[in-house]
Amino acid sequence: LAKNDHRGVAVATGAAADDAGRQRLTTLEELRTGLDRGELTLHYQPQMEVGTGETTGVEALVRWEHPRRGLVFPDVFLPLAEHAGLMGRLTLQVLDIALAQCREWRDEGLYLVVAVNLSASNLQDTSLPGHVADGLARHGVPPGALHLEVTEEILMRDAARATEVLAELRAMGVRLAVDDYGTGYSSLAYLHALPVDDLKLDRAFVTHCDTDPRSAAIVKSTVELAHNLGMRMIAEGVENEAALDRLREWGCDLVQGYHLSRPQPADRLVTWLRERQPSTLA
Ligand code: C2E
Ligand code: MG
Ligand code: MG
Ligand code: MG
Repeated sequence: LAKNDHRGVAVATGAAADDAGRQRLTTLEELRTGLDRGELTLHYQPQMEVGTGETTGVEALVRWEHPRRGLVFPDVFLPLAEHAGLMGRLTLQVLDIALAQCREWRDEGLYLVVAVNLSASNLQDTSLPGHVADGLARHGVPPGALHLEVTEEILMRDAARATEVLAELRAMGVRLAVDDYGTGYSSLAYLHALPVDDLKLDRAFVTHCDTDPRSAAIVKSTVELAHNLGMRMIAEGVENEAALDRLREWGCDLVQGYHLSRPQPADRLVTWLRERQPSTLA
């Protein structure tokens, strides 16, 4: 049974709440086993340089290949992993898969940068930079081929510690981006405090920038802000050609979105790239 509370949000009651709780517990147990069995996989979404039209990198997005439920998306299991303290393990697995894939592509002459997402709790872990360095060395990937994306949530924890971890990663030569920029609670404080290279504007401001004047104003000023800070501006959530045209006009550096390609398994991404830019592949 579900009823609506005063905000119109469906709230589970009684037996339904118990069911939901049980379901979460089952999913969590299955996630633990899934991590042991290597059920996580990555899909890759191209990032295109607006100036050259070339795909220079990809964002790695985690998926869970559940034995019965099929492909499970991150919004279902990441909050559980975070809550259960499994985020450290999960991130190390994702990094390992991403770096192995990056190595494989380099061996085929495909020099793609791979962007990996970090969670807020990852940046509270001072052993992270060491693990990243190990992974890079183990797979023979240069630090410049790895980008890490962090969200503004990290400032809600121990900001000093997060800044230290980020500074260490950056000193290694790993490039850092602020993800979902503009949706956090203190965007400017974030930019002021953190050692980051790229600004990734949230898709909420990007997707309708070709038709909505307020989105357009936000995108234009953010490009300027990024450039004035010596950062690159990445737009996510580009869903049509008109938005891409505006972003090009306003000087956005990189774009990502369904208009180019949805996230897809590594082999399909390579096929997509071969069709689009044969020159990048030997
Ligand atoms: P994100 O890092 O902001 O990633 C972008 C999300 O937007 C992805 O959803 C992607 O599939 C989706 N997207 C891309 N282009 C478009 C578009 O044109 N339109 C729309 N409407 N959506 C688009 P996904 O893969 O479901 O990931 C959701 C979030 O989960 C990510 O948001 C990220 O915060 C988190 N996440 C994904 N993989 C990882 C991971 O390995 N580690 C961590 N810590 N977080 C991850
Ligand atoms: Mg991201
Ligand atoms: Mg994002
Ligand atoms: Mg997001």
